[in-house]
Amino acid sequence: MGDFILARGNGRRIPKEDKIFGISNRAKAAIAEKGRENVVNGTIGALLDDEGKLIVLKSVDEVFRDLEPNDYAEYAPIGGIQPFREAVQKAAFGKHVPDGYTEAVATPGGTGSLRNVISNYSDVGDQILTSDWHWAPYNTIAGEIGRSVATYELFTKDGKFNIDAFAEKTAELLEKQESLVIIINTPAHNPTGYSLTLEDWKAVIDTISREAESGKTIALLVDVAYIDFAGDEDEYREFFPLLGTLPENVISIVAYSLSKTCTLYGARCGAMICVAKTREIADEFKRVCEFSSRGTWSNSARFAQVILSKIYNDAALLEKVNEERAKYRNMLQARGRAFSKAAAECGLEIVPYDAGFFISVPFDDPDRVSRKLEEQDIFLVPLAKGIRVSVASIPESACRSLPAKIKKAAETD
Ligand code: PLP
Repeated sequence: MGDFILARGNGRRIPKEDKIFGISNRAKAAIAEKGRENVVNGTIGALLDDEGKLIVLKSVDEVFRDLEPNDYAEYAPIGGIQPFREAVQKAAFGKHVPDGYTEAVATPGGTGSLRNVISNYSDVGDQILTSDWHWAPYNTIAGEIGRSVATYELFTKDGKFNIDAFAEKTAELLEKQESLVIIINTPAHNPTGYSLTLEDWKAVIDTISREAESGKTIALLVDVAYIDFAGDEDEYREFFPLLGTLPENVISIVAYSLSKTCTLYGARCGAMICVAKTREIADEFKRVCEFSSRGTWSNSARFAQVILSKIYNDAALLEKVNEERAKYRNMLQARGRAFSKAAAECGLEIVPYDAGFFISVPFDDPDRVSRKLEEQDIFLVPLAKGIRVSVASIPESACRSLPAKIKKAAETD
């Protein structure tokens, strides 16, 4: 912990450089020096077109450009403006609204929801449960407020959701702790692209219901950051009603984000939406989460809340946004299919992939393989158990040629 000059470490390990940003900067420098066509930058967590430009939904941009000064200059209430609190529930659940009491609290992106759930539904010192393959900032968010992350193996040997590992770890943590926050990122999980099937979901719900018989508190956080980029928007929401079947001592919280769904990454807008068994639990959710918001970022930016409210109050506009997004989703799916097919053809094993921005390739020595690839101006993200490829940020042609190059780099010393 001797790594600080004046700052206090408070048990945290803070690297000098964020690994992903470091690689990303090297990729940008390579592009500047050698030209975009000679470099593969598969590190970026945003949807880019084939020329490497950020995709921004025109239909959303038009709403932004029509805003009045008050729509962005005025403070929003801590929990969000009322039309947003209603609109975001429609955006998240679609036709599949779970039974129970729901409340939405605005947050700065899905990140804010994650932070507020951990701070309000776990004790200091607790472990938060998620899968071994997971979005690394979960560790940072938990660590910032004195918690840490424990993991279960996401996949069985034959590439199915590992419900036994999930159940075992849930039971183990509930033996030691008074409460447990469980994070499940689906559909189109980052970094694997896995989506829990309805069968997986039923098994998860059964397991949690069984473990809840202990009487302890469980908060099930469903991180749906990529929900509108998985596939059919209706089909991928079919699991939501299952959240309404959980017992009273389990609260489900959906972390919804406008970053990807509306291509408003920089607007920092999202919401945490609870599904609770009683009115009192839902009211408590609102009270504690708004309190936490006040003590961290205060209120969230107003303008993106107004944008989403306008979209959901205008059927024609909503259809336009959905159609435009579907076009880009098809492009993303084509890239994912191209990569999977090429991987199968050259015999490169990939982690079970369904949809979304990322595909992962398992390796024992991801840093070495990643260095080898960098020598050929291919920039990907090494994780603990493999390498993450952002198919969201590279053209279909690169998705087709990359698997063989990855395989070759892994096989050379
Ligand atoms: N969850 C996952 C798995 C993510 O990949 C991201 C963003 O990359 C987020 C949540 C949160 O994003 P934001 O805070 O921009 O909504």
